[in-house]
Amino acid sequence: MPAQLTFAGAAGGVTGSCYHLAFDGASLVIDCGTFQGGRIADELNQRPWPFDPAAVTALVLTHGHLDHCGRVPLLSDHGFTGPVWGHAATLDIAMLIMEDTAKLAAHSDGPPMYDRDSVARVRERLKRHPGYGKKQAIGPFTVELFDAGHILGSSHVRVSWTEKGSERAILFSGDIGVVGSPIIRDPTSSWSPENAVDWVVTESTHGDRNHPDRAAARETFRDVIQHAMLDGGKVLVPAFAIGRTQEILFELDQMITAGEVGRIPVVVDGPLGLSATQLYRRHKGCYDEDALEQLDRGDHPLDMDTFVGARDGRASSRVSDLRGAAVIIAGSGMCNGGRIRRHLAENLDDPKTDVLLVGYQGARTLGRALEDGVREVWLDGRQVPVRARITRISGFSAHADQEGLASWYGSLPTKQGGTTFVTHGDDEARDVYSRLLRDRFGARTAVPMLDDTVTLG
Ligand SMILES: [Zn+2]
Repeated sequence: MPAQLTFAGAAGGVTGSCYHLAFDGASLVIDCGTFQGGRIADELNQRPWPFDPAAVTALVLTHGHLDHCGRVPLLSDHGFTGPVWGHAATLDIAMLIMEDTAKLAAHSDGPPMYDRDSVARVRERLKRHPGYGKKQAIGPFTVELFDAGHILGSSHVRVSWTEKGSERAILFSGDIGVVGSPIIRDPTSSWSPENAVDWVVTESTHGDRNHPDRAAARETFRDVIQHAMLDGGKVLVPAFAIGRTQEILFELDQMITAGEVGRIPVVVDGPLGLSATQLYRRHKGCYDEDALEQLDRGDHPLDMDTFVGARDGRASSRVSDLRGAAVIIAGSGMCNGGRIRRHLAENLDDPKTDVLLVGYQGARTLGRALEDGVREVWLDGRQVPVRARITRISGFSAHADQEGLASWYGSLPTKQGGTTFVTHGDDEARDVYSRLLRDRFGARTAVPMLDDTVTLG
């Protein structure tokens, strides 16, 4: 019987990534991420699995973001006992994320999705994949990873198996990064004929739009820092702890080293951002040529002498006492939680303050309200007037834009006759990108819905 693929997440939205591939009595789950975004997401996270967790042979992670690994302990609690494979850096980041999720759940109302014991049981079953370009046999499958250029350790996952004497193969894109992003390498764009695939499952987060130029983003960023140095104000940067925080650190390090801005203190406030930065500092095997060259010159691209880490609550409180200009990077990226809220509460009423929005701000978040120019916000149980300057920078995305996605797709060695499944995007983005793939590449595309199962025949 041919292989069967079930879309158990990220089909009709950008979160909850999870695919189930079954063949010859064995099965792989590729990613097992959390659905994010309010009550509907909570319900989706708690719904029954469209496959039997106890029967799954192994799990493979594309990368360590919450929406790709956040439900792994839940799958384990529900009967999955197999190994969890991934790039070494991915497993390190995924552990941080799962532990953080269990910690947050312990401090919130309502029933936790899982606890620290569940996460500890997953830790015992982690298996390091031999790495990019290498093959790993798992049951009847062969699993190969290719650099996806999205965050540290991020991978495209190629799964192949033999059916009636011939090889069949499917590629899961995971999240696809942006060419030219700092620190890590670009998404894979050169493939050998041996990497040919019948089917592709591709993300489409930004399948309907193109990003502004990165150079322009850098320039705006530099202007804000220079301005802060002049008036002695704080620069508050709400940022996701993994990926974005390190990218911002890298840009600041470049600007300070080049003398474009003065030696401004740079604070990372929060244990998750600090731990992730340590992982980025450690996994040098994932660096691109520029970062390696910089290392060779004795200058670590993520280490500046004005760096201040605030891990515990007391250190975080001391950040408030800093006098003069400083950059404060803290989560959450959309200001709907985390330590950034206290810094906003303390500084938004000061016209010398700059708030730098470097990521997407979802609807009904504080970040979006600031972006939309509200004059007052409710923080720490009081009304805070917004006198700070709010600047939006949209050139720092970790996801390829439409042209980036298309050029990645165009590089793939796809075999005739297979289907490309467009997932991990809002419906509008999926439809636009799916049409583009048909028109430009003559691809046969499908836009699957949650829990759809298709036969790969
Ligand atoms: Zn991601």
